[in-house]
Amino acid sequence: MQIHNLGFPRIGAKRELKFSLEKYWRGDISQAQFLAQSKERRHSNWKIQHEAGVDILPVGDFAHYDHVLNTTLLLGLVPDRFTSHEKSEHHVNSLDLEFRVARGQAPTGCQCAASDMTKWFNTNYHYIVPELSSKLVNNIKTEVNLTALLNQFSDAQQVSDNRKVVLIGPLTYLHLSVVENEDKLALLPALLARYQQVFNQLSVAEVEWLQIDEPILGLELDSRWQEAFKQAYLTLEKGVLKLLLTTYFASIDHHVDLIKTLPFDGIHLDTIAENTDVASIINKLPIDWIISLGVINGRNIWKTDLASVFEKIQPLYNQLGQRLWLAPSCSLLHSPVDLAQEHLLDEEFTSWLAFAKQKCQELKLLKQALVSNDNDQLICYSSDARARGISKRINDQAVQRRVSNLTATDYQRDEKFEQRKQVQNAALNLPILPTTTIGSFPQTGDIREVRAKWRRKEINEQTYQTLIQTEIKAAIERQEAIGLDVLVHGEAERNDMVEYFGELLEGVAFTQFAWVQSYGSRCVKPPIIFGDISRKQAMTLEWISYAQSLTSKPVKAMLTGPVTILAWSFVRDDLSREQVTKQIALAISDEVEDLIANGTQIIQIDEPAIREGMPIKQSQWQYYLDWATASFCLSAAKAPSKTQIHTHMCYSEFNDILPAIIALDADVLTVETSRSNMALLNAFEQQAYPNDLGPGVYDIHSPNVPSVEWMVNLLEKAQRYIPRERLWVNPDCGLKTRAWAETKLALENMVQAAKQFRVNDS
Ligand code: GLN
Ligand code: ZN
Repeated sequence: MQIHNLGFPRIGAKRELKFSLEKYWRGDISQAQFLAQSKERRHSNWKIQHEAGVDILPVGDFAHYDHVLNTTLLLGLVPDRFTSHEKSEHHVNSLDLEFRVARGQAPTGCQCAASDMTKWFNTNYHYIVPELSSKLVNNIKTEVNLTALLNQFSDAQQVSDNRKVVLIGPLTYLHLSVVENEDKLALLPALLARYQQVFNQLSVAEVEWLQIDEPILGLELDSRWQEAFKQAYLTLEKGVLKLLLTTYFASIDHHVDLIKTLPFDGIHLDTIAENTDVASIINKLPIDWIISLGVINGRNIWKTDLASVFEKIQPLYNQLGQRLWLAPSCSLLHSPVDLAQEHLLDEEFTSWLAFAKQKCQELKLLKQALVSNDNDQLICYSSDARARGISKRINDQAVQRRVSNLTATDYQRDEKFEQRKQVQNAALNLPILPTTTIGSFPQTGDIREVRAKWRRKEINEQTYQTLIQTEIKAAIERQEAIGLDVLVHGEAERNDMVEYFGELLEGVAFTQFAWVQSYGSRCVKPPIIFGDISRKQAMTLEWISYAQSLTSKPVKAMLTGPVTILAWSFVRDDLSREQVTKQIALAISDEVEDLIANGTQIIQIDEPAIREGMPIKQSQWQYYLDWATASFCLSAAKAPSKTQIHTHMCYSEFNDILPAIIALDADVLTVETSRSNMALLNAFEQQAYPNDLGPGVYDIHSPNVPSVEWMVNLLEKAQRYIPRERLWVNPDCGLKTRAWAETKLALENMVQAAKQFRVNDS
């Protein structure tokens, strides 16, 4: 029985890859130096896995930027705009080409619009979206290129002979791509011809196993895609290559009949993501297939209760013997690297955790126990995981009681939007088309410095408070001078919208080094939700009250919503996500009540992550959306009619969740739309948005200052979908990544645009 790994975190325990990348992009190291460092990184990643007990090492899981982009490069499918300036094929600097596709620029070559980036299934990892067309896929001048992959395959031999190649399969690759004005599946034959070349070259290079990732099998594929899947794998000739069909993030029970007739040599099943009856799947599959079971959660940070896994797996091992392989549920890309470097967490807490390296060691322990039919060691190992379940630290009966006592009225505001709107109009007395911003203002070096010193305890609480107040005061003065109608305090005290609240909540812990890759060189360090959640004390009150004391205009308070806090954290596995989110919602609701008691008239509860938390299977969306919207409503419901609740979301694919967004029943919704030229509003043709809407009138991701005309024009478009009485004027996201110089000019133009528009068609 062998242990294998679907993929390992690329970044390195100390984020070495991130720093090499950024040095290379800045020109601080040469290309040769960069390539040497990433080679070194791969080597040490293999070594860690090998030493931890992984038998079959993955090759091809590593990427400088992203593995989907790697697939694009390997298949020779880079869109023309990135290469057209290169005089000859032979002069293409392939590393810079890679970065140009990802970032729009690289140390050499032209600048051009980067490819789009989007979330990898329901994770927080972003991939570079392939841009395909029949012209590109059929272009015989661009060829598959396996040089890099095969070099890595031979490099890995220094660590072990036992290796396999990892590659995204053709159906998943095609499914994840964008194809304009053509049927995606029409591109499949040409794409398969490229995959055929890849298979041929791998066979020649004597690769034994190819892990072919087809995670789209977790989706409920329609009959066309199912048929395409079948035809694809019947068409591809694998030669001596063995194919391990690899699925993850969801169960694939519903597609077993499709899969079982195809010429695979094995399959990997994620046994964690959904409750799957693995035994019944195995009994339907051919009796000579390798069955790889993903038995350790590849997406969280918890130590596994190996003794229970043993009990489940032992009968399968008895049945399958050598045919059984063990693995984490999915690539360990989504898990931090090594627990050994965490020194600030206490001993008990640390004993509950396992990061990527420890997860590999867990597999080894499990294998030893199965082979020797002795689980004594596992019982001992599992005692920590079991202790977590009953620890006093994770249980707060008061919180549990509060959640179980919730009734329907706790989720609803007292009055309907129409009535609330009248009361709010009277209370706030805002002009038509009110101007506002999304919350954060430029995070200057000074602000970061203040927070860093406070964290390092170099300045005391009093000094910190005074310095942040100075920032708030400056932000209020600037907004008054610009002439905005609804002001914000600017979020100077927050480094991150989830971390800020997480640190103030009971039941949430923070690590020092548990970084995971979000995209390219960007890593995040998610909070760990380990126990029942409650608010220790007011979280935003002092800053908001201070800001309000400086102005007669309303200051909008800023909170992060429960679904977003959940989505951007590692979450406990002993309570449903729904229950955890309700606990968070109650903590936010407590803050809402405090703010209101203190005279706050407007509160924004940000929910940028509602969409990404959607389950893989569409049939489960509604259930998720129901509890997600309910949680948001719970956090806001205590607001009386006169308190205006805003929410903000920063994405524009809305159409499929519009009913849920309406169900949030926020008085004002601000969204990103400027880049798509208000295209998002098309969604409202089918179903009108009933409350107030602030479609972002300029793109904050760009330093360009938008002109007054440009924004007036967008407002005119918006007005076709939303009557002007319900329109707000705002940028499309927070301004923390911008500098003050352009922010001031942009907001002045925005206020001017609103004024002009008020006069124009009144
Ligand atoms: N209020 C937050 C800010 O302005 C919202 C950030 C977000 O939408 N991701 O920064
Ligand atoms: Zn946003």
